[in-house]
Amino acid sequence: MPNPINTEHFWMPFTANRQYKAKPRLLAGASGMHYTTDDGRKILDGTAGLWCVNAGHCHPKITAAIQQQAGTMDFAPTFQMGHPKVFEAATALASIAPEGLNRVFFCNDGSEAVDTALKIALAYHRVRGDGLRTRLVGRERGYHGVGFGGIAVGGIAGNRKHFGPALPGVDHLRHPLDIGRNAFSKGLPEHGAELADELEQRIVTLHDPSTIAAVIVEPIQGSTGVILPPKGYLQKLRTICDKYGILLIFDEVITGFGRLGTSFAADFFGVVPDMITCAKGLTNAAVPMGAVLVRQDIHDTFMQAAPENAIEFFHGYTYSGHPLAAAACVAAMDVYKEEGLFDRAASMSPYFEQAAHSLKGLPYVKDVRNLGMVCGIELESVPGKPTARAFDVFLKCFWEKGVLIRTTNDIIALSPPLIIDKPQIDQLFGAIADVLKAEKPVPDVKTVA
Ligand code: PMP
Repeated sequence: MPNPINTEHFWMPFTANRQYKAKPRLLAGASGMHYTTDDGRKILDGTAGLWCVNAGHCHPKITAAIQQQAGTMDFAPTFQMGHPKVFEAATALASIAPEGLNRVFFCNDGSEAVDTALKIALAYHRVRGDGLRTRLVGRERGYHGVGFGGIAVGGIAGNRKHFGPALPGVDHLRHPLDIGRNAFSKGLPEHGAELADELEQRIVTLHDPSTIAAVIVEPIQGSTGVILPPKGYLQKLRTICDKYGILLIFDEVITGFGRLGTSFAADFFGVVPDMITCAKGLTNAAVPMGAVLVRQDIHDTFMQAAPENAIEFFHGYTYSGHPLAAAACVAAMDVYKEEGLFDRAASMSPYFEQAAHSLKGLPYVKDVRNLGMVCGIELESVPGKPTARAFDVFLKCFWEKGVLIRTTNDIIALSPPLIIDKPQIDQLFGAIADVLKAEKPVPDVKTVA
């Protein structure tokens, strides 16, 4: 029997803490595609942790690189100093980034990457003498982390309403989810690219376009339920941003590092943004790290604008480019390349798609949407309990089926490590199918974000 745990002190993030205490779910070990629970059960990881462990858990090369670095140099500042691994990590990232995004600013997670990118955008316009560009544009149901910048451009009421006004001057485009027209689309939805025109029709005309600094979007809105861009949508955003001198930021915290079978979603869509925010798969999640990939000439503008010997951009974190994170990043990039994991994701995605859509027609399944190695399964909600059905499926998958899934409202989101094989894909969707077939009226479970 595992030791009972003391749940009295840890305030759990994005968790129904009181409900959790009643029956704690504990992960105690991990390897490859699996977690092990504290009571020794093996759990198939259908979510790559939190969309992050792309090469599978405890990859020996990444573990060894971290151990080696921890024994060589634990910490070194990157303010007016440097260490070899951080330059190596930036070079490795630039080598897989879309063309032109050659500069890398390191931070510690996705939230910091978003706030950093927004600050780069605002400062960039200012250093070029275009300082009236202060407005930012995000989207409804966008998730950009929990910093004040991120919750301002994000479009999730629950993340904002308790915290007062975050940043002024933010507009939100409508999200493109349209189950009415696009239900059970395989891959990109056909309908809805015109929603990108809102940027021009509504926002640019509502404000003087020369006051808009940047538009930030997730190529796929992950955390709010796998909302895919309709065909042509991101291309339209790029065209409108170009027309009005607005920077386009892709938040690729989820879509980066092979999730769609390419290094970044930008490559998949053939749309090059001005900046990319990333984290998670950046180190295969073994050490926290985030980064912003920045267009070379944006960086160069800062260099040219500041006087010789001056600090060009007043921003940074104690742990920007932390040696352990940098070592994990370099190792993760090597592993992705050596094991061909992005190509593997591309070649496995048709099987994943077919397995996802096999759920169509099962009780309560309202929509299935997928791209690359990510999918969302939207369920009919229990009236008055808009998160209960999917959460109940999550609990049954965890306790009864040995499978980890993720839910947001009544949407199940799956994003397994890219090493998943066909029998494991069958196990994952088979478990969900079995639970849905046996689903009875939902007990009174409490909800999570
Ligand atoms: N942006 C996106 C698109 C995300 O999905 C997330 C996290 N899921 C974040 C930002 C925030 O990342 P973090 O939790 O590492 O701060």
